Amino acid sequence: MRYAEVLIERKVARLDRGFTYEIPPHLSGLVAVGSFVQVPFGHGVAKGIVVDVKAESDVSELKSIDCLLHGEILLPEELLKLARFIAEYYLNHTMSVLRGMLPAGVNIFGKVEGARVEQILTLASGGSGTGFTGSKQRALYKLLWEEGAVSRRAAMEAHGIGAGTIASMVKKGVVVVTEREIFRRPPSPAEGFGPPPVLTADQERVLAEIESRRKEGKPFLLRGVTGSGKTEIYLRLIGAALAEGKSSLLLIPEIALTPQFVAIFAERFPDEVAVLHSRLSAGERRDAWHRVNRGELRIVLGARSAIFAPARRLGLIVVDEEHEQSYYQENSPRFHCREVAVRRGADAGALVVLGSATPSLESYHKAMGGDYIVLEMEERVGGRPLPKVEIVDLRRELQEGWTQVLSRPLMAAVRDRLAKGEQSLLFLNRLGSHTFVSCRDCGFVYQCPHCSVSLVYYRNSKSLRCHHCGYATPMREQCPACGGRRIRYFGLGTEELEKVVRRAFPKARVARLDSDNMRRKGSFEAAYAAVRRGEVDILIGTRMVAKGWDFPHITLAAIVAADLTLNFPDFRAAEWTFQLITQVAGRAGRGDGEGLVILQTYRPEEPAILLGGAQSYRRFYEWEIGNREQYRYPPFTHLIKITVSGERGKLPCHFWRELL
Ligand code: ADP
Ligand code: ZN
Repeated sequence: MRYAEVLIERKVARLDRGFTYEIPPHLSGLVAVGSFVQVPFGHGVAKGIVVDVKAESDVSELKSIDCLLHGEILLPEELLKLARFIAEYYLNHTMSVLRGMLPAGVNIFGKVEGARVEQILTLASGGSGTGFTGSKQRALYKLLWEEGAVSRRAAMEAHGIGAGTIASMVKKGVVVVTEREIFRRPPSPAEGFGPPPVLTADQERVLAEIESRRKEGKPFLLRGVTGSGKTEIYLRLIGAALAEGKSSLLLIPEIALTPQFVAIFAERFPDEVAVLHSRLSAGERRDAWHRVNRGELRIVLGARSAIFAPARRLGLIVVDEEHEQSYYQENSPRFHCREVAVRRGADAGALVVLGSATPSLESYHKAMGGDYIVLEMEERVGGRPLPKVEIVDLRRELQEGWTQVLSRPLMAAVRDRLAKGEQSLLFLNRLGSHTFVSCRDCGFVYQCPHCSVSLVYYRNSKSLRCHHCGYATPMREQCPACGGRRIRYFGLGTEELEKVVRRAFPKARVARLDSDNMRRKGSFEAAYAAVRRGEVDILIGTRMVAKGWDFPHITLAAIVAADLTLNFPDFRAAEWTFQLITQVAGRAGRGDGEGLVILQTYRPEEPAILLGGAQSYRRFYEWEIGNREQYRYPPFTHLIKITVSGERGKLPCHFWRELL
């Protein structure tokens, strides 16, 4: 291999291709696909990554690679290939995909920040075992002969070998010093879950079918109602992969990646689990990543970008809650984790399992067309019933003179739980106190100066915030336009809902769990633990509590404003509403008590609401897939979103002509 194709680290579209360089003799055998190198480029030098090595090149007078930038191969060939696919399919620059594949803290092109390294002593390959001048030198030689590699510190502290001895042995060319990063140990699990349970008949059937049909090489779509025991299926599949010496990737939406979830896997597979998610420090993430790269940890749990974990000998990829919108990364590098998972699995010959109680229309459509193999579990573990769903028509409440946020049936149901000492969950998909604020006199609406969307009012901090860009400003009680003092608040958020609930049930212990008051590290876990210990009567939450959380004492779950999702301006609004109802219903009645779900809506006749209430996925799918086909929406077409930003009116006409 005399030539290398190098991708240059410059985000310039016309440089997004390989450049050929000669591999100089001193680097031959060291430069491989995935090596990070420095090369002469233009009038200077550039850094880059080797994407191919070959024996022949038809280009003459090539320049040579200067040097290797990193001794380890950080991106295996399999991931380089995947990166090229993602670059092409999602119109990304290849280099930005490669950067996205490495976690924060693994900076390939610079010095590794905060790394802790130790020096390792080994014998040089050509060194001889004779001619030493002292017993210490002989002792070091014997030590390395027997142990292979010893850290410099251990040699000095445990074996009493001095720095001078080491230095002279290095000088003689007998001993070589290299560096190795040392890693933090991942935290050990706190909770005990006990031995694996006996599988249910459903779980047995699903695992048997995966076993008998995996030869077909298609992804499996596992649709199992909430509480049907999908996690245990994942655990068994991971165990089977491990028994064959293969590694597994388990992808979960960020918000569902709770410490409890991680603990289940860490307990079942001690010393095998790496966790990759955004709440880790850069150092923690880098350690986990390197240990996966070296094959020391063979199970990766993580959100979206963990699909790029450098797992070796990949045997299994699971994408849990595969319908989740958060699997799509909108900013660079753009990709859809589920689609990338299917692709990576196919390339690696790994088993791919997509799981959900409410699969995306796209995936279920593929399953119906025979591209995926569908597996269904309709029963909850232990024969527990699915909760009853009651739909409250808010129009009727209004006609009968009831104008409060909590309808009369909901008030009665909460009161009933309080009397029985059971817990209630009130779900509202909106932060803040009020979603928009305007002046009663002149109609002025408080808007973001950057984004032209209305600002959300937060009563606790008396501030207005933009949910789009994060802009914040103090709330002024006087209208900036007319000076009037009659300010009107519209649209209810969780902060205000908490006030309303405290007023309605003054004796109840109320807690709110949303991204606004859960910013501090650990606050999430504390709130979760308090709910589990029964120290909370009424829990108010956003999407954060809608999934992944196991609260055994919640027997009532209410969606305070189901229409918020239904009215969202997106062709997927009906699908999201259906999913939301199913997920919230899944929070109720997971323990022994029977669960009740209350759904407040102004549009009770909407199919997404009705079928969500009936928890009938198949009927919802058939109704909604018909709409998609009729209006030519995905999965019957592909949609591309093109965002152009610039100063108003400055985009030339030819820009649009070329685009279209
Ligand atoms: P899903 O992910 O499908 O909503 P889970 O995996 O959370 O469901 O399982 C629901 C509950 O059932 C969990 O508490 C889990 O520990 C329990 N469970 C799963 N499988 C079994 C089994 N075979 N026997 C007893 N309990 C089980
Ligand atoms: Zn803004």
